[in-house]
This record gives sequence, structure tokens and C-alpha cells, in this order.
Amino acid sequence: MWRCVTRSLRSHALNTQRRLFSNSSLGGSGYTVVDHSYDAVVVGAGGAGLRAAIGLSEHGFNTACITKLFPTRSHTVAAQGGINAALGNMTEDDWRWHMYDTVKGSDWLGDQDAIQYMCREAPKAVIELEHYGLPFSRTDDGKIYQRAFGGQSLNFGKGAQAYRCACAADRTGHALLHTLYGQAMKHNTQFFVEYFALDLLMDDEGACQGVIALNMEDGTLHRFSAKSTILATGGYGRAYFSATSAHTCTGDGNAMVARAGLPLQDLEFVQFHPTGIYGVGCLVTEGARGEGGILRNSEGERFMERYAPTAKDLASRDVVSRAMTLEIREGRGVGPLKDHIYLHLNHLLPEVLKERLPGISETAAIFAGVDVTKEPIPVIPTVHYNMGGIPTNYYGEVVTIKDDNPDAVVPGLMAAGEAACASVHGANRLGANSLLDIVVFGRACANRIAELYKPGKWILGEKQKPLAKDAGEKSIAWLDKIRNANGSLMTSQVRLNMQRIMQNNAAVFRTQSTLEEGCQLIDKTWESFGDVKVTDCGLIWNSDLIETLELENLLINACITMYSAEARKESRGAHAREDFTKRDDENWLKHTVGYVNNFPGHGSNGD
Ligand SMILES: Cc1cc2nc3c(=O)[nH]c(=O)nc-3n(C[C@H](O)[C@H](O)[C@H](O)COP(=O)(O)OP(=O)(O)OC[C@H]3O[C@@H](n4cnc5c(N)ncnc54)[C@H](O)[C@@H]3O)c2cc1C
Repeated sequence: MWRCVTRSLRSHALNTQRRLFSNSSLGGSGYTVVDHSYDAVVVGAGGAGLRAAIGLSEHGFNTACITKLFPTRSHTVAAQGGINAALGNMTEDDWRWHMYDTVKGSDWLGDQDAIQYMCREAPKAVIELEHYGLPFSRTDDGKIYQRAFGGQSLNFGKGAQAYRCACAADRTGHALLHTLYGQAMKHNTQFFVEYFALDLLMDDEGACQGVIALNMEDGTLHRFSAKSTILATGGYGRAYFSATSAHTCTGDGNAMVARAGLPLQDLEFVQFHPTGIYGVGCLVTEGARGEGGILRNSEGERFMERYAPTAKDLASRDVVSRAMTLEIREGRGVGPLKDHIYLHLNHLLPEVLKERLPGISETAAIFAGVDVTKEPIPVIPTVHYNMGGIPTNYYGEVVTIKDDNPDAVVPGLMAAGEAACASVHGANRLGANSLLDIVVFGRACANRIAELYKPGKWILGEKQKPLAKDAGEKSIAWLDKIRNANGSLMTSQVRLNMQRIMQNNAAVFRTQSTLEEGCQLIDKTWESFGDVKVTDCGLIWNSDLIETLELENLLINACITMYSAEARKESRGAHAREDFTKRDDENWLKHTVGYVNNFPGHGSNGD
């Protein structure tokens, strides 16, 4: 249908490898397709993507990093509280205690090999960040300051609260992302900024050969062929109505994997953070409670003392979110509608607020109109993190989870960060374990590739299997169809339907009837996507088109989440069923895998 003409061949400016550019036009329909060839391609430039790209470049791989956002705008920038590591700067500590807390926090579903790897690597990873230049907060004697965070204890849960969360005030993600971006620049990673990855390029044998992406600036399409593709595309919090995540957290990588016919794992485990600002969803870090903040109900009671007598306000997030929801349900919520809870910081010293929580003080003033030195902040449990995602082993390799060989890997495909599910968080993530996850597993992906391959060996050589001529053709046809979609529903309408359904039917507490209804409603919304309308059919800076592509991605994640939640008949971690209130290890100590087999947006063939 379309021709691929080699146009130019030039050497990579700073590496010794060469890149092939070729240019072609899709017959008649005017799409320009540019081909690139790299050792490795990373999709995403948040903490996970940047750390992977740095590692690959350090090992000498010719690496492309594709991102729909400017790197330092990735959601990692919003992380506040910090990053866990048993550095032992405040009290004695041990990575095994950190591992114990993480396994327990995961409600025993987490993969213990992966957790062991992450917690053992943690001190090294944080010191590496320090050496990269991350401006951590300091103790008086100059060590990295570490604060208390939820679910962290000493001595295998028998000791006191651990102080394990290294931070840069309450702007740790900002400091981390900018530091990593600086390092990536130093290592000459090739960035393709504001390129929207559409789909994986899979060969006939099920291996990944790269990705196809749309350059949002000029409307050209780009096929990136690579021996290794790493998805680091973040979470899908925006499937819900109220979320702490950025509007760009739309689960694109997860959806690309689902469209390739591969499974997603454990999507029913969606974390609600106890302290999103009421009405707007912005996060107030757990670090606020780590510094001494207290939750109170309408009677002024510090109710967490009843639910978790030892950990109190620093119990793990699922426990605190459920306790808050119960308080509200039982009529002890605050405000005119009695539908939220107060977080008090006003008893803390103003100097502590200024030094340790400056961002929170500002956010509370802007979004809640609250002076934290005098008044409490109105808060409510808000969707925050996706424990599930693309299944991987602890090297970062994507696994197929087929019955006959669950550990078989998908050749050429890796994933890291919130998009991935090495299952270090199991059914519930502990605060400050995600920034750790993204740097540890971003690095693990690069290390694994360095173990398996040598830089440049296959570039344009015999080992580089060329892309099939028509690779990506289906994705281009799909893009064309969406771009010209002329149905009766606005993208924003379908999105709002989806977000309301997820918020109501896959909430903090779940029952069979809310979930069954949720499956029916989300199915209908999924089908209604086939009747969507895109008003702007241009290819340049077309936010209507991009939001519609993101909506399909969100819907894929939403459907699998709802169906997985309906299927799991137990309560575990963030998945709290009112009709199955106990954890059921006998029947349910296992992961969920979900597939999508019908794509209404892709036309009548429905494949
Ligand atoms: C408000 C907030 C505060 C948090 N605080 C903490 C904390 O204190 N400690 C902690 O451990 N965790 C925290 N978390 C969680 C943690 O920050 C995230 O899980 C983590 O940063 C995710 O990193 P990532 O690299 O996987 O993805 P992201 O940082 O979300 O980056 C995703 C990247 O993928 C790219 N991308 C996505 N789709 C496409 C596409 N189709 N084409 C091209 N590029 C694409 C984006 O451009 C972006 O660069 C917080 C989360 C939130 C929302």
C-alpha cells in the first residue's frame, strides 16, 4: 500500500553507530513515515524512562527516548514525599527490614524476589542519585535526611517506626527528575520530545521490534526499529474522576501492550491516597503525617488511634483510606455535607512547615484557601497509584504469563516504572517505594540489555531483523480512522462517563453488585467509543486527536480494572470487598491477568 524509500544514511553525531533515515508516504493518504534504527528505544522520560536511558547510554548503546511531554513535565516531577532506602541515617536500619515491610505492605501478593532485589539495591540507588547531584535535605551532621513514612518499621515489624524516606523537602520528584534529565543530557541520549507513541511494532513471531509514534509538532509518523524497547509510560490514574495524577497519566504503554494481544496484570489494585485535597484532588504528601500531621473527624477525634493503635496516622494507605471512608459513612465527616476529613498541621512548628513542607503549605493555600499554620486542610481519599500494569520479571523483561510457561519473556520488550508490574507493590504500594521502583528497575532494564547484547552489533547488520514493509500499517489506519471519526459523542463526554463509572463502581469499598454493574456500564462506554467524534482532523498540535487516542488507552485500562476487580472474590491490599471481607490465601494468593479482545475504535473488523 505504501513505499519505503531509503533517503539518507548518516553517522550518529556523537556515537559511533549509524542511524538509517528513510522516508515514505502512505499511498494516497498523505502520511509521511520516517524510519529510525536504534539499539534501544525507551518510551517515556519520567524517572523510570530517564534512568533506563542513562544506563543504556552509559553502556554505550545508541538510545532513543520518545516522550509525549517535555521530560521534566512527566508526572514524576509531582512526587513530594521521598524515596525509601535503608540508609540508617536517623536510626539503625537494614534492607531486610525494608523488604519485610514491603512484602507485608503488599498484603503478601508482591513478588518476593523482586522486592528483595529492590530493597537491597535501594541504598546504592539513593547514593547514586546523590552523586548525580540530587539536592537531598540534610541532617545537622550533613547526612541525607530521612523522614517517617507509612508502613515502615524496624526489626521485621517488631521495632518502632522507621525513618527510611530520603527526601528533598516536599519536592523530591522535582529534584529527582531534573537531576536525571541533566544526566541524560550528559550521556547524549537522543530525545524525541512531543512524540506520541501509538503502538508497538511486533513481528510475526511475537517479538517486539520497536514502536510507531506521531510527531505532534509536524504530523509526521516515525517507525523506531530497535533490538530492545522499554515501556516507561507511567500510570492511568486519569481513568478515575478524582486523581492526584497528571492529566497525562493515561496508561498508553499498558494499552499498547493490550493491543499487541499481551496481558496486563493485577489492575484491580488501585491505590487511594488518604489525603487528596477535597474537591480538587491535589496531593498532600504522606510526609505531612510523617512530620507529625494528624487526621481528625467532625468530633475532633484522632480516629486512627482506634483503627491502628500502633501506627495510627502512619498506617499503610489502604488502612487509612478505609478508616476515613468509614468515618464519613458513619456520619463523622466534616464540612457542610459531612463528606471529608480534616488533616491538621497547625500544631506543628512554623519552622518545620517552612523547612520540610513548603510545597504543601503553598498547595493548601492555593487549592483549599487554607493557612496550614492556623487551619486544617480538608482531605479525602483520592486515586493515586496503579499497582498493576505490564507484567515483568525483576530484570524488567515483559513476561507472557501463558499457562504452559508463565515465565516466558516477550523478546525485545521490557517495562519499568508505574506502567510495569514486577509486582514489588503487590496489592498495595508503600509510600516512597515508587520513586525507588522507578530508578531501580529503570537501571535494571539497562543492565539486562547490557548482559544480553553488545552495543551496535546488530545495527544495520545481520542480527537486525528489518521491519516488515507494512509494519505499523494497522496503527496508521487506526489513527486515520480516529482522526476522521464523525460520530455523535464528544471525547470529553465519553471520558466523563468512564471516569464517573470508575469512581462509583470501583471505589475504596467494592461489592459484587457494584462491580457487576460497573462491568456492564464500562462495556457500554467502551462500545460508545466507536461513536466518538473528533472535531479537528488536522495532524499538527491536535489536542482533540491526542485526547481521543488517550481516551481509548484509558478505556482499555478501565475495562480490565473493572473486570479484574469483579473476578477477585477476596479483600487484599487496596482491593476491599464488603462481601468478601477477608484475605483468602488458599484461593486467591495469585495474580490476575486481563486481556482485551474487542476494539470498537478500530473499525468493523473488531480485532
Ligand atoms: C502527586 C503525586 C505524588 C507522588 N509522590 C510520591 C512520592 O513522594 N514517593 C514515591 O515513591 N512515589 C510518589 N508518587 C508516585 C510516583 O511519583 C510515580 O509512580 C512515578 O513517578 C512514575 O514514574 P514513571 O517514570 O513510571 O512515569 P511518569 O513520571 O508518569 O512518566 C511517564 C512518561 O511517559 C511518557 N509517555 C506516556 N505515554 C506516552 C506516549 N503514548 N508516547 C510517548 N511518551 C509517553 C510521558 O511523556 C512521560 O515522560 C507520587 C505520584 C503522584 C501522582
